[in-house]
Amino acid sequence: MSSTSTPESLQNFVAGRFQPAADGRVLDDLDPARNRVVATIPRSAAADVDAAVAAARAALPGWAATPVAERAAVLDRAATLIEARLDDLARIESRDSGKPVSLARRIDIPRAVANFRFFAGAVRHQHAGFHDMDGRALNYTLRRPAGVCALITPWNLPLYLLSWKTAPALAMGNTVVAKPSELTPGTATALAGILAEAGLPAGVFNLLHGLGPEVGGPLTAHDGVDAVSFTGGTATGRLVAQAAAPRFKKLSLELGGKNATLVFADADLDAAVDGAVRAGFTNQGQVCLCGSRILVERSVHDRFVAALVARVSAMRVGPPDDPATELGALSSLAHRDKVASYVQLAREEGGTVACGGVVPALPAPCDQGAFFAPTVLTGLAPTCRVAQEEIFGPVVSVHPFDDEADAVAIANGVRYGLAASVWTRDLSRAHRVSAALETGMVWVNTWLLRDLRVPFGGMKESGVGREGGELSLQFFSEARNVCIQL
Ligand code: NDP
Repeated sequence: MSSTSTPESLQNFVAGRFQPAADGRVLDDLDPARNRVVATIPRSAAADVDAAVAAARAALPGWAATPVAERAAVLDRAATLIEARLDDLARIESRDSGKPVSLARRIDIPRAVANFRFFAGAVRHQHAGFHDMDGRALNYTLRRPAGVCALITPWNLPLYLLSWKTAPALAMGNTVVAKPSELTPGTATALAGILAEAGLPAGVFNLLHGLGPEVGGPLTAHDGVDAVSFTGGTATGRLVAQAAAPRFKKLSLELGGKNATLVFADADLDAAVDGAVRAGFTNQGQVCLCGSRILVERSVHDRFVAALVARVSAMRVGPPDDPATELGALSSLAHRDKVASYVQLAREEGGTVACGGVVPALPAPCDQGAFFAPTVLTGLAPTCRVAQEEIFGPVVSVHPFDDEADAVAIANGVRYGLAASVWTRDLSRAHRVSAALETGMVWVNTWLLRDLRVPFGGMKESGVGREGGELSLQFFSEARNVCIQL
């Protein structure tokens, strides 16, 4: 591993000030594409959590009492500032995560802008419940901030997911302690500065860097935290739920997935191949919604696999800053090795590597980076480990099915239940299959077409609760009914 001559020194942001961890310890922040240290971050601990939660508690009454119009105006200004720094933020996101700069420019950063704008609008237009008891009494619902919110986010879509939680939390008058993944600290740090520049008062948004067990653990268990919104892996989500349970905190968990792409013989096969490639390999396959299991009706299976393999073999893995690059590096070498181990497991489980399955040779300075060739696996039983466990990399497995019931049974035959996409020209089938799938979200003849107003989240081991639109505003607030006898 190499080091740049002057790694940046990123800081926590607590009570309106950038500052190091109380005990001064730091961690390295690596660029996974070039395997070099690009920054150091504070290795925060329980004392830093105490300070950040205290700052958030102190700021809560003032921010909760700030008129909605002013809160929304801060969010709008934050959106404008993020937009103005699009190139810079995309470069930081790419450097921390290994993703193509072009992807960060096209998806991650614009989505962060959209999140702030959307929730500024949503809170302005929010209306409360009202129930008339036949003239005898009136009920109305007040919404009050949930309080101090812990926001814990993963490395795959760093600013995108942090802004998805921060914007509604701030809109509803909460204060925040955010803990991004230690692998991708850059854009969260930039966001802290942007929010201050947008006029957010000190202590309303606090940011702590560090390791999950050392920061996320004490934060989720902290008595001063009222609500926890967590996006990450299912195993970590279980720990977060355990930490939050004794104090009955509000809890939202967006966890892992093993999502199916179902391709019926009547589908537009070209469009289905396009959709399956996008669903399988966007962000190097590191999106919780990625369709890593492709189920194809047996009569078109071989034709579909041939077209899929041709497309995937032609995908360009390359340096993240090359505009022609379609797949950049994975988030870390350790994660790349985990992905590679699943390809080895697929061989042991009797599968065939139809394409990919190797570490591609890239020129310096990316020759030691965490790259992995996009991979298509065939011949695996849907019940084998590779087809059951979340790999979270550029690896898909293709499985034939016989009929609609078989397709639904395979799709539902995993412990996860996040998302699915269905490819068919038969409208009735689209409705039937969508109703039968055990997932929080279904796309028909598309994938990852997002409307920020709709419920987002998963069932089974993919999570608890839904975010999105009004549901996010509800999560980040407490409803109080007032009943007035007339
Ligand atoms: P992890 O679960 O490892 O980490 C998520 C966050 O939790 C990180 O900030 C991590 O910190 C922190 N954390 C780790 N341990 C604890 C703990 N004991 N208490 C509190 N926080 C902790 O997930 P990854 O970062 O590896 O992200 C990938 C996972 O996220 C995949 O499973 C993916 O499916 C899921 N995901 C789900 C989405 C959804 O909306 N359903 C969207 C995107 C991703 P640190 O990194 O420092 O360990």
